[in-house]
Amino acid sequence: MRIGCPREIKNHEYRVGLTPESVRELVTHGHEVWVESGAGLGIGADDSQYRQAGAVIKDGPEPIFAECEMIVKVKEPQAVERARLREGQVLYTYLHLAPDPEQTADLVKSGVTAIAYETVTGPGNSLPLLKPMSQVAGRMSIQAGATALEKAHGGRGVLLGGVPGVLPGRVMVIGGGVVGFNAAQMAVGLGADVTILDRDPEVLERLGTHFESRAKTRFSNRANIEQMLCEAELVIGAVLIPGAAAPKLVTRDMLKCMKPGAVLVDVAIDQGGCFETSHPTTHADPTYVVDGIVHYCVANMPGAVARTSTYALNNVTLPHALRIADLGWRDALRENPHLAEGLNVHAGRVTYRAVADELGYPY
Ligand code: NAD
Repeated sequence: MRIGCPREIKNHEYRVGLTPESVRELVTHGHEVWVESGAGLGIGADDSQYRQAGAVIKDGPEPIFAECEMIVKVKEPQAVERARLREGQVLYTYLHLAPDPEQTADLVKSGVTAIAYETVTGPGNSLPLLKPMSQVAGRMSIQAGATALEKAHGGRGVLLGGVPGVLPGRVMVIGGGVVGFNAAQMAVGLGADVTILDRDPEVLERLGTHFESRAKTRFSNRANIEQMLCEAELVIGAVLIPGAAAPKLVTRDMLKCMKPGAVLVDVAIDQGGCFETSHPTTHADPTYVVDGIVHYCVANMPGAVARTSTYALNNVTLPHALRIADLGWRDALRENPHLAEGLNVHAGRVTYRAVADELGYPY
């Protein structure tokens, strides 16, 4: 199969669909891979590295969209890219169609076969192609929070790990799923005093078994959240209710009891945020202050560590890309029902029920 990897054109997107190492795997399987010149610069991979891996370098996206049977990307295709998609072509990337009627209409019109990373499932109803980005965001949240706690960034002037003779900072993680677990791991590693709140007893049990005495766990209810907020230097918002907006667990009124210069990192901001005072920010201007409390609410945290994120993403997307290339998309989806869950649009129809229901397409 001829596979194409164009340069990402969404604003501030530095990741790339295929690493040179992934190209090498595809080429070893007998496939041809066309990569747009400069596609890997955001992760520090230049054209020569892709050439060495066996890629054909193309100037500009046009030949890639015109002549490749499968397009591998990171972000949803932008309008100019959607105009280049065509019937019989496979698009394999993040799509997030439900809140995006314009994109959905364009994909339907194009006739493309679109497989969305975010709906490919794994054992136990997991979403393995979303997980690495949550791992990255969870780990980054502590880095971002530690920086925001520095005086020069408006914070309280607290070192999370403390030093001998001075107590460590208190970190409160609300939501103990993938983001929360990874945040807690980083905070524990720094030597902070860590408490994780969740409302799912099984999650609490898993966290308790994993962290033992290195982190505390606590049931998430209003009373416990209020009490812990007053003590925390750093609060990580990491809750998710699948398919719903994040619940506002911390109201503006509750900020009153917090220590001046304490930091809130709202990782759940991409679902609307779990603090009432959150609004989305960017890497260029990541924080703002409300009532003396520093807020960090960057909606695409993994973008800042494009290299790590791209490699983490490729680790989970490449095995499916290889099967699609080796077998053709139909047989690859027949062979693997988890991958079949990724099919969102095919030959002018929406093929994913939640998207069809949300946007009023027949299913
Ligand atoms: P997850 O499903 O693995 O974990 C969510 C956890 O929240 C679950 O354990 C659930 O029991 C818990 N929860 C639900 N309601 C709660 C409540 N009231 N109190 C305490 N816990 C509660 O989800 P995840 O992968 O960890 O993702 C968390 C959020 O981070 C999502 O909104 C996701 O979209 C977001 N995210 C943001 C970025 C970013 O760049 N900002 C990157 C990746 C993920």
